[in-house]
Amino acid sequence: MSQQLAAQTGPSLGSRHVRVLIIGGGPGGYVAGIRAGQLELDAVVVDSQPMGGTCLNIGCIPSKALIHAADEFAVAAEQAKGAPLGISVSAPTIDLGRTMAWKDGIVQRLNHGVAGLLAKAGTSVIEGRATLLDGKTAEVTGLDGSTQRLTAEHVIIATGSEPMALPSLPFGGPVISSTEALALTDVPTGLVVVGGGYIGLELGIAFAKLGAEVTIVEAEERILPSYDRQLTTPVARSLDTLGVKVLTSSRAVELADDGLVVEGPNGRRTVAADKILVTVGRRASVRATGLEHLGLTMNNGFVAVDDRCQTSMRNVWAVGDVTGEPMLAHRAMKQGEVVAEAIAGRPTVFEPISIPAIVFTDPEIVSVGLGPDEAEAHGLDVIVGRFPLSANGRSMTLASEVGFVRTVARADDHLIVGLQAVGRSVAELSTAFGLALEMGARLEDVADTIHSHPTVGEGLAESAMAALGHALHI
Ligand code: FAD
Ligand code: NAD
Repeated sequence: MSQQLAAQTGPSLGSRHVRVLIIGGGPGGYVAGIRAGQLELDAVVVDSQPMGGTCLNIGCIPSKALIHAADEFAVAAEQAKGAPLGISVSAPTIDLGRTMAWKDGIVQRLNHGVAGLLAKAGTSVIEGRATLLDGKTAEVTGLDGSTQRLTAEHVIIATGSEPMALPSLPFGGPVISSTEALALTDVPTGLVVVGGGYIGLELGIAFAKLGAEVTIVEAEERILPSYDRQLTTPVARSLDTLGVKVLTSSRAVELADDGLVVEGPNGRRTVAADKILVTVGRRASVRATGLEHLGLTMNNGFVAVDDRCQTSMRNVWAVGDVTGEPMLAHRAMKQGEVVAEAIAGRPTVFEPISIPAIVFTDPEIVSVGLGPDEAEAHGLDVIVGRFPLSANGRSMTLASEVGFVRTVARADDHLIVGLQAVGRSVAELSTAFGLALEMGARLEDVADTIHSHPTVGEGLAESAMAALGHALHI
């Protein structure tokens, strides 16, 4: 996947003027490119990687493909042990190289798909790396080393993010980031994951299901510290069932010959491992972009933007991970859309009521808006309805009754301010959750909506009814 740029020795291809120069072809940049083309703005997207950015090439899509393969493997292994569904199979084996080839096939289809969508919109793509010289000019070095100068009326910085390394554990050898983890062709025997956040848990669980001995080392006192304990407890229990060791309040110290030295509440110990996956967060990808020539206002290493994604320099815009948290693909996409419309002169603003977040663990967690504690911290007087999936028929038929759906609403007018769930297949509820919040639904709106039976989504109506004091099935 990684195409190295040739040394900058190639010919100069002269200069070109465009209305909109988009640096980075990830979800933020490519969506800005599609929308700009639809709005008949002369736009170009520059990226040295195939279209789709981190999300498509080394993030969302490959990780979800691996998670799916691991789930299928785990189900087969479970049936082989004589699970109660009456299915007889022998113990499965996995050829991870073939799994990765399948995953790469999906990525390539999507790369071509995105390139096709840009072409259809009339936006061109230049394969190369852009360095800004000022707020209207960039030098682009192509994959063949050729250079060309682009001038633009508007520049959109959509350069995304990159994994953060720990000073004591630089990437290389056994120490890998999610990028290398998503390209492994053998399942590690022992895998230590440093960081029990989104990536660490999603990939840690997948590799545990594939047969690795997984240990998660998390600095905080619990995994997924940005989610409330009610939501993370079912995931912590599932890690235990999967045999994943979790060392909380612990930090990686240094590499040992056969693993990693970890310091925790009980002192130092060495955890045996052949791979150490470091997932302690991501930082803005700005180093090679020439941003220092612009002197933009920054915010903790991220490009500061206003509610139209305008930076501190006129006609220089920024979208996606490079602008900071939450670093999610759907946020980047919406920002890309907003900026293209702003440049086209349309009245627009990036002001979502909520940005849904999903952790694709087993069980999955989905959260939109405020949890009960956050609502209280905002000074809101709220009522909370909670519906356990153990009372949901569909969850029973999926042989997975763990988890719940939760609705948080203002006590005075019943406006819903937050929706959360943990359980199997709850990721898909994020659509209904997002719609409910964005459209200003009240408890009665959700409770009065007929939800199809049997679905996990019935938990949404039941949790709203629970908040109103009249849930039907508990
Ligand atoms: P990116 O996708 O990072 O794209 C930036 C692009 O800019 C890259 O292609 C890069 O090559 C290019 N670039 C950088 N500098 C230059 C330059 N100087 N010249 C030209 N091009 C340049 N988010 C979700 O919402 N759901 C998920 O399930 C999810 N899973 C993830 C799993 C993993 C393992 C990882 C790492 C991330 C995941 N994310 C997920 C986060 C998601 O990938 C990012 O939020 C998203 O990709 C951000 O989009 P972006 O356009 O801002 O940047
Ligand atoms: P993260 O912020 O989700 O988790 C990092 C974890 O590492 C935290 O729990 C933190 O307490 C811990 N940590 C920090 N320093 C540590 C240290 N020295 N030792 C041990 N633990 C330490 O970051 P991530 O998992 O790297 O993911 C990066 C970003 O990618 C996320 O913020 C998210 O926006 C995005 N992402 C999203 C999805 C999704 O939407 N499903 C999936 C993967 C990644």
